[in-house]
Amino acid sequence: MNMLSKVGLVTGATRGIGRATAQHLLNQGFQLAVIGRNADLLEEWKAQGVLALPADVGDASQVDQAVKMVLEHYGRIDAVVNNAGITRDGLLMRMTDDDWESVLNTNLTGVFNVCRAVVRPMLKQRSGKIVNVASVVGISGNAGQVNYAASKAGIIGLTKSLAKEVASRNILVNAVAPGYIDTDMTRALTAEQRQLMLQHIPLQRTGKPEDVAKLVGFLVSEDNQYITGQVIRCDGGLMI
Ligand code: NDP
Repeated sequence: MNMLSKVGLVTGATRGIGRATAQHLLNQGFQLAVIGRNADLLEEWKAQGVLALPADVGDASQVDQAVKMVLEHYGRIDAVVNNAGITRDGLLMRMTDDDWESVLNTNLTGVFNVCRAVVRPMLKQRSGKIVNVASVVGISGNAGQVNYAASKAGIIGLTKSLAKEVASRNILVNAVAPGYIDTDMTRALTAEQRQLMLQHIPLQRTGKPEDVAKLVGFLVSEDNQYITGQVIRCDGGLMI
C-alpha cells in the first residue's frame, strides 16, 4: 500500500502541534481527517481537501460519530494522533472540581474515547498506528499542574497497556512527550516563567510544533515497524 492510500486522523488539529502534525501527514501523502471544535479553522482544512469533523474529544458519542464518518468516507483508518489537550493550571489547594474534571475529561478520557472508537476497525485491518501526545510533565510532575500532569501520566499508562493489548494484531501504540513547544498553550506563560524554563533546556531554545510533528510522522510511517509502547521525549534535552 502506498502512502496515498493511508488514512490518518488527528485530533485538536485547528492550532499548535495538532495543526503542524496534520499538515505534515498531509505533506507525506496521507488522506486526512481532522477533529476540532473551531468551525472557522475547520473550514481551512476543508479547503485543502481534508475531512474536517467538528467534535469534542471528551464526548464519546461525538467521537464515535466522527470516527464513523472517517470510515464511511475513506473506508479504513491507518494512523491516529491523539493530540487534543488543555490546561487549567493552579495549586491543588485552590483547584476547583471543574479545573480537575475538564482537564481529565479532555486530555485522558478524550484519548480513551478515540482509541476505543478506532481500535475495532484497526483490529479488523490487522494493522494500525496510534500516537498519543503526552508531556514531559506526565513523567516529572509540575507544581501547579496536578490535573494536567495526572492526565498526561494517565496517557502514558493507557499507551503502554493498549500497546500490549493490540500488538498481536500488528497495531503499534506509542506516546510522545513534548517539552516546551511554542504554541498558544505556552504563550500564556509569563516572560519570567519562560526565561526560567529556557535555563533548563540544554538546546537553549523552545521547540517548534513542527519538531513534534516530524517525530509523530515517523512513528505513524512505514519506517516504524518495531517501536511500540514507548514514550519518546521531544524536549531539547530538558529531561536528560
Ligand atoms: P494548543 O492550545 O495550541 O492547541 C490545542 C488544540 O487542541 C486546539 O486545536 C484545540 O482546539 C484542541 N482541543 C482542545 N480541547 C479539545 C476538545 N475537547 N476536543 C477537540 N479538540 C480540542 O496546544 P498545543 O498545540 O500546545 O498542545 C497540543 C498537545 O500537546 C496537547 O495535548 C498538549 O497537552 C501537548 N503538549 C504541549 C506542550 C507545549 O509546550 N505546547 C508540551 C507538552 C505537551 P480549539 O481550537 O477548539 O480549542
